Amino acid sequence: MYAGIEAGGTKWVCAVGSGPDDITALERFSTTTPAETIGQVIAFLRQFPALKAIGVGSFGPIDLHAGSPTYGYITTTPKAGWQFTDVVGPLRAAFNVPVGFDTDVNAAALGEWRWGAAQGLDTFVYLTIGTGIGGGALVNGKLLHGLLHPEMGHMLLRRDAARDAFAGACPFHTDCLEALATGPALEKRWGARAETLPVEHAAWDLEAHYLAQAVVNLICILSPERIILGGGVMHQPQVFAALRPEVQKFLNGYLQMPQLAERIDEYIVPPGLGDRAGVLGAVALAQLAEEVRQD
Ligand code: ADP
Ligand code: ZN
Repeated sequence: MYAGIEAGGTKWVCAVGSGPDDITALERFSTTTPAETIGQVIAFLRQFPALKAIGVGSFGPIDLHAGSPTYGYITTTPKAGWQFTDVVGPLRAAFNVPVGFDTDVNAAALGEWRWGAAQGLDTFVYLTIGTGIGGGALVNGKLLHGLLHPEMGHMLLRRDAARDAFAGACPFHTDCLEALATGPALEKRWGARAETLPVEHAAWDLEAHYLAQAVVNLICILSPERIILGGGVMHQPQVFAALRPEVQKFLNGYLQMPQLAERIDEYIVPPGLGDRAGVLGAVALAQLAEEVRQD
């Protein structure tokens, strides 16, 4: 039995089980203060003495460098009260089992690899478009970390100034992906919550235009075999429909791969695990942490 924790800026979702068809308990806690939220998670997990490992997919930025004094911490987050919060330490102290730790989106990518839309692939990207935008990547069979960890939401894009005068929703950049394409960006630009905008609203073509730029950048940099787009905003199927030809238009025939030309519907896809990718991915992180310890 494993515990997966999807640690988000608004809620922490905890699942106990071993995979999508075997979840014995699922619980949500609001993200209030670190002491309260992590305390509630620990109290919940104490009901399951048979836990073999714990996985945490967290909002960030986080420290993933083994040996760093702040390994396992949420670090320079703009979220008030959560700067330099030790997440792994209290869990290890309470349960004395391996604790896997990674970004929320790397966790979701791992879940999709094990059980979802990326099974059998070596290199792919998982991008979520919700309150924020984040991306995780599996490269040559390993989750990508590097210098820090990918921050795909802050890649810079070319703004379509002719149809977009919106100031942007990122506190750091005017023309990054988060600034232009999150749910809150849609809401502020168009004056209504994204889920209330009609299917034929001009918002969706502009959204597809920005997401297509991001997808093209990811294709050119990481050469993924598939790109999974999840998060609340991608519940709009017309965005998938509009962005696929836009990606082909930007690529302009340069990359001659059938996956991009004839089978783009199978190349840019929603998550196989739907909105459960994050928490199930955290369960997969727990399993990975246990396997690493046994090696
Ligand atoms: P979070 O990113 O907070 O984990 P979500 O991925 O659900 O959660 O993202 C929430 C954002 O997605 C909000 O800005 C919301 O307006 C937007 N959103 C949620 N559902 C939809 C929908 N069906 N269509 C478009 N936007 C949506
Ligand atoms: Zn930004």
